Amino acid sequence: MTGRSHEVMERARALFPGGVSSPVRAFRGVGGEPFVVDRGAGSRIWDVDGREYIDYVLSWGPLVLGHAPPIVLDALEQTMARGTSFGIPTALEVELGELIVARMPHVEMLRFVSSGTEATMSAIRVARAVTHRDVILKFDGCYHGHADSFLVRAGSGVATLGLPNSPGVPDALAALTVVAPFNDLSSTESLLASHDVAAIIVEPVVGNSGFIAPDPAFLPGLRALADRFGALLIFDEVMTGFRVAYGGARERFDVVPDLTTLGKVIGGGLPVAAYGGRRDLMECVAPAGPVYQAGTLSGNPLAMAAGIATLTALTPALHDRIAARTARLVQGLRECAARRGIPFTADAAGSMWGFFFRAEPVRSFAEAKTSDVERFRRFFHAALERGVYLAPSAFEAAFVSAAHSDADVDETLDRLDAALEASDA
Ligand SMILES: *Cc1c(COP(=O)(O)O)cnc(C)c1O
Repeated sequence: MTGRSHEVMERARALFPGGVSSPVRAFRGVGGEPFVVDRGAGSRIWDVDGREYIDYVLSWGPLVLGHAPPIVLDALEQTMARGTSFGIPTALEVELGELIVARMPHVEMLRFVSSGTEATMSAIRVARAVTHRDVILKFDGCYHGHADSFLVRAGSGVATLGLPNSPGVPDALAALTVVAPFNDLSSTESLLASHDVAAIIVEPVVGNSGFIAPDPAFLPGLRALADRFGALLIFDEVMTGFRVAYGGARERFDVVPDLTTLGKVIGGGLPVAAYGGRRDLMECVAPAGPVYQAGTLSGNPLAMAAGIATLTALTPALHDRIAARTARLVQGLRECAARRGIPFTADAAGSMWGFFFRAEPVRSFAEAKTSDVERFRRFFHAALERGVYLAPSAFEAAFVSAAHSDADVDETLDRLDAALEASDA
């Protein structure tokens, strides 16, 4: 890395741990130095040295309409002129709440927060309060934000850095989180039989240990097990919400969770997340009920306006169009790799996708870790040199936005085919 990016990163490293505001941005998973972004428009971003990239990270998922969509910018401008924060109810939060509930009817009542981390930690507080149980069951490689209870075998960020558990999390708290392999119903069942589990929390399609789809029986099986053992089922849809289907995982898999966490897309690129679900459960949240949770900037008008503009624009027809382009990209990549005889597996759900350098499909984080990470690193840098920005870790999902045209997909396939060739050392 040369030029302004290098200069800015040198200054950043003196200020921020690893030079970044969130670990995976530091490129530790792929080596080398991150570029510094200057601006984005549509499917593209430009770094401060003027290099252009087709972006498949999209701010780690939120930008389902692409960068700087006029419809979101207009909404922000109009809202901003009236004030940026009040800490008083606004009509905007009602409007965004109603848009979400219309698309996810099992979310009968919800609360806005500012990050996915807050959403998941609040959801398990509700689950613990209503079940009078303390243990949380999660899956190996699933990431649910950085709250203490979830930093137990938490996927990408942690895995890429080689920190399976974080120092600073009290053992006594970590002991209240039990972990089963994803797609493994029998391990889940024995953990439920041996612990008083308040809630099973799952990424319905995993995006945080690379892209891993659930087996057809897995999510229905979790629903049945939760009911049998008196635990709640929480779908962490911070990433999958408004990505894997127009109505998220419940629509795609026809399994209804008790609680759902949302984030990323619902904020259209501004900091918004939410937790919600069954009315009787959400009625326990303060001030309707005794479970405390609050936030100074929760329901922030700018963030609500960006979310409203995004969800309004994201019609079922548009969702399907983005999903079709995603499927074409993934199929094209499979064909490129097959032609070159490179072990490769790729998959998509809606506008979320991912791949591993491994011949067989991946069903768990343990299997993901058997993929060829060295080859991924070479491929990542070869793609970046050719103007395609993929997540800088072998254990992250990728995304497509409404701004990615068919021509973008064709151009991406050409560039990534050349990157596959270059990485085939
Ligand atoms: C990104 C993510 C989170 C955390 O959200 P933040 O806004 O980064 O705190 C939680 N769960 C899942 C599934 C995520 O992908």
